[in-house]
Amino acid sequence: MCQDCDFRSGLFAHGLLIETGVEGLYGRSGEFEDVVNRFDALITSFGGGDNPEVVRFPPGMNRALFEKSGYLKSFPNLAGTIHAFNGNDRDHAALLDKLAAGEDWTLGQEATDVVLAPAACYPLYPTVAKRGPLPDNGRLYDLQSYCFRREPSREMTRMQMFRMREYVRIGTPEQVTEFRQLWLDRGRELISRLGVPFDVDVANDPFFGRAGRMLANNQRDQKLKFELLIPVESVEKPTACLSFNYHQDHFGGLWGIQTSTGEVAHTACVGFGMERVALALFKHHGFDTKEWPAPVRKALWG
Ligand code: ATP
Ligand code: ZN
Repeated sequence: MCQDCDFRSGLFAHGLLIETGVEGLYGRSGEFEDVVNRFDALITSFGGGDNPEVVRFPPGMNRALFEKSGYLKSFPNLAGTIHAFNGNDRDHAALLDKLAAGEDWTLGQEATDVVLAPAACYPLYPTVAKRGPLPDNGRLYDLQSYCFRREPSREMTRMQMFRMREYVRIGTPEQVTEFRQLWLDRGRELISRLGVPFDVDVANDPFFGRAGRMLANNQRDQKLKFELLIPVESVEKPTACLSFNYHQDHFGGLWGIQTSTGEVAHTACVGFGMERVALALFKHHGFDTKEWPAPVRKALWG
């Protein structure tokens, strides 16, 4: 292991991640993916016994549903939309001229009906609403998706495209808060097995602008969001690797999800940053997985 190369260049030098020329957008090696997949399986070993409904959405979501979700009110700066060419032969020629001249060819692009999913759970809520009132014991989902957030950074833990695994609980306030407490405990147990230092703390989302600061304070005061933090980039600013969110009746009210007794459903989710946890492992145990401590290897590879 090269002692004197920093974490970022070390990941590239060892071929674990591959530069693309865009910050926060990387290729993954087989070894990196193996760690992600083993961690994915470890999550399932903790949560699979609850018999969640497994659902996988693609990383693109319905723009109309995204607009209704309210994401643009809170995080306009992070959203990614998909635009495409929608012209005729003349427009095509103009596009090629601009490209050849080194001018901005993207101005003629038009918005499509697809946007990039900012979190794995966004496409879920409208789907659940369509199924009608919840059964008595609510619903539990297992999700995973590549997500996009426009937050380019040289910090390897802050990517623009990354995977989020989630369990989402939908039901009464009691069912949902119990779920979150369960996962706060399980999250600690799960990460302990990986032999990395961590801490759990209240947190807030990076809501945009002046109005956003009030939302953030409110979220913090009400302890609606907790994060499991692992020092990866630095000890002073540990990285949120797992998040535990209680949305109260926000999504239930927005999408019209009802409990079996006709109340507005509450929701909560636990989110696992797949790349962030893999990076934490490489940071603390080194770039060669074969050299990782035996208990950690056992937790992941059995
Ligand atoms: P941060 O405070 O570090 O920006 P966040 O509060 O935005 O994180 P969430 O919105 O709760 O994170 O997302 C759920 C999980 O997805 C996080 O716990 C984290 O592990 C992961 N995640 C979030 N943003 C990124 C990113 N830019 N790159 C990689 N993983 C991310
Ligand atoms: Zn973030």
